Amino acid sequence: MNVIVLKLGGSVITDKNVENSIKWGVLKRIGNEIKSALQHLSGNTKLIIVHGGGSFGHPLASKFKRIKGYYDSEAFIAIRENMNTLASIISLLLSCLGLKASHFQSSSLFILNKGRIVKAFLDPITYSLENDIIPILYGDIAVDLSRGYDILSGDSIVAYLANYYNAIKILYATDVDGVYTDNPKVNPLAKRIERIIIVKSSIDGKYTISTRVKGDIIPHMDVTGGIYRKILDLAQYARRDLIAYIFNGLIEGNIFRAIINKPEECTVVEVKMR
Ligand code: ADP
Repeated sequence: MNVIVLKLGGSVITDKNVENSIKWGVLKRIGNEIKSALQHLSGNTKLIIVHGGGSFGHPLASKFKRIKGYYDSEAFIAIRENMNTLASIISLLLSCLGLKASHFQSSSLFILNKGRIVKAFLDPITYSLENDIIPILYGDIAVDLSRGYDILSGDSIVAYLANYYNAIKILYATDVDGVYTDNPKVNPLAKRIERIIIVKSSIDGKYTISTRVKGDIIPHMDVTGGIYRKILDLAQYARRDLIAYIFNGLIEGNIFRAIINKPEECTVVEVKMR
């Protein structure tokens, strides 16, 4: 089974400035692109979709963090319900477009410790893949053995799953053309980085990342960590060589091209185990 993990960034499918808002047109176009792309792939190639929280997750998560400083059972229920609503909508919309897709509550599949995934129950996901169902997972809040509860980002799930299923490629659709030397929305002189190499030791797990970037490394608005978090998550969870593409999912045709081949403009991130 050849697995492709596709991350639909919260910035792509929701309007991050308006709470609980969905970009319906974008979502419909993406659904159609996924459907067309799958017709070009062999039956042995399977897709997993992971989506971010965007305006369904971040405002609530920031509110609880700001008011209480930690996530309690009240936060767990509120964030979980809201994210479940977004996932249901996405799953329903993709199903209406003719895709065999079903969402799985990430908080029921993963256990964290200090914010990292330490336990996962992925049998239902494997079973779905074997039966040609596209599993949809998403950034969520989950039980944390040290902290009670913590945010489980879509990016951590992507890295974990890519590793677990030995994914042939990881696709991060976001709202910019890749990773830049600085935040391209703020700094017009920022340049896109073509390739980032992560070299990781299989002996002690230590890693080096070829390029450091400026910008929102841990942005104040984004409780799950921003663009650089994707790279850090890949580095931290990797136990094998991986290849990922960070590209703009708002450009028509990009998701189609990324699934069947690779996106035109992007940053390639390679993990090399040594
Ligand atoms: P998503 O919700 O799509 O997963 P994130 O919000 O985590 O994406 O990251 C994408 C955002 O990161 C972009 O909207 C961009 O403005 C911001 N950003 C900050 N620094 C950088 C950088 N160095 N390169 C690219 N994007 C950056």
